[in-house]
Amino acid sequence: MTTFSLDPGPDQIAVRDWLHGFAADVVRPAAAEWDEREETPWPVIQEAAKLGIYSLDFYAQQFFDPSGVGIPIAMEELFWGDAGIGLAITGTTLAAVAVLANGTDEQIGTWAPQMFGTPEDVKLGAFCSSEPDAGSDVSALRTRAVYDQAKDEWVINGTKTWATNGGIAHVHVVVATVDPELGSRGQASFIVPPGTAGLSQGQKFKKHGIRASHTAEVVLDGVRVPGHCLLGGKEKLDARLARAREGARGGGKNAAMATFEASRPAVGAQAIGIARAAYEVALDYAKTRVQFGKPIIENQGVAFQLADMKTRIDAARLLVWRASWMAVNNQPFTSAEGSMSKLYAGETAKFVTAQAMQILGGNGFTREYPVERMHRDSAIYTVFEGTSEIQRLVIARAISGAPIR
Ligand SMILES: Cc1cc2nc3c(=O)[nH]c(=O)nc-3n(C[C@H](O)[C@H](O)[C@H](O)COP(=O)(O)OP(=O)(O)OC[C@H]3O[C@@H](n4cnc5c(N)ncnc54)[C@H](O)[C@@H]3O)c2cc1C
Repeated sequence: MTTFSLDPGPDQIAVRDWLHGFAADVVRPAAAEWDEREETPWPVIQEAAKLGIYSLDFYAQQFFDPSGVGIPIAMEELFWGDAGIGLAITGTTLAAVAVLANGTDEQIGTWAPQMFGTPEDVKLGAFCSSEPDAGSDVSALRTRAVYDQAKDEWVINGTKTWATNGGIAHVHVVVATVDPELGSRGQASFIVPPGTAGLSQGQKFKKHGIRASHTAEVVLDGVRVPGHCLLGGKEKLDARLARAREGARGGGKNAAMATFEASRPAVGAQAIGIARAAYEVALDYAKTRVQFGKPIIENQGVAFQLADMKTRIDAARLLVWRASWMAVNNQPFTSAEGSMSKLYAGETAKFVTAQAMQILGGNGFTREYPVERMHRDSAIYTVFEGTSEIQRLVIARAISGAPIR
């Protein structure tokens, strides 16, 4: 275990500066175009792949960096560049984390690299948990996986929604119920390999923000996957289900929740990237925009807004770094520190980007300046990976031990 430190060390600083260069030179200049086009920015992902930024190796290196803050630093810089493109570049990691959290070593070795492809032939991964009637309430999933023992295959039927990269991904990770009576404890995650018959993309959503990231329904109609596509394997699942049926406490972790726990600080760091970007634009603007014969920052009313924005960004980053360090060092989240970090960072991004629009006045309301896009992008950070209300629920339960609903 490493000691928690606010100095990420020379290696992480070098990575931060490298990513900042990519975000400033490649991502930021392309942001407005891909936001308008509402399409996956393949050329930017390819460029990231060529540089080694879109690769399993890169994320694995950051994830296992002993400082514990490799992933938050990487996310903050990429999303400082642009959140829509940032999510197009990093959306695959949600599926990869699902495999890392629930898969065997062999499954990780087989499927995680395939989600990224190669710099010459870039691929994507998608994590499909949410359904039309099961968003915050993950226990209500209806997508059903039934084991066909004769063929050693799982047959999956259902409709997933809101899947980042859904339908355009090479590899889909699908959470399905194998025993509906057990609620979330009766669920498992499955790999759906490339080209599997029966998986198709449903509606692609037109969104308020992060429009360069593809979000769509995924329809699973009689999808058959080999037995080895059950993440973690059948033996482990059977043991977990048996414990759950006996009503044993701690009968194994819920598949979707295990993924979310591991990824919340990273999502918080994305929100910080957006907030920092908007804050910097607003600070520059406030120093140069002159009204009543002086720069508007010389008004306490404007300067105090910037002071609050910077304070909240730094506070959010401290929460995210702590949670990320705890996760890497296997520290138990006794007060739901992962949820705390995502809650505070998501709300900070919405607050800071709204304040930035206000500081830019009429310009803040136009697409000539990036803060309106940043504000639109920030709005998802109080919704996905658990809404702010759900984060509060998780924290409240953790600190009280009470069955709060
Ligand atoms: C752009 C985008 C990308 C996404 N990417 C993915 C993805 O890749 N994979 C995936 O599986 N999912 C993804 N999601 C789904 C996302 O995680 C869900 O939208 C989110 O969990 C909320 O679910 P819901 O939309 O059904 O809202 P609901 O659960 O219906 O919530 C509606 C409102 O009720 C509140 N609420 C619900 N229950 C409670 C409660 N108990 N107490 C207090 N308030 C409550 C919520 O906080 C919210 O304000 C994505 C969503 C979007 C919009």
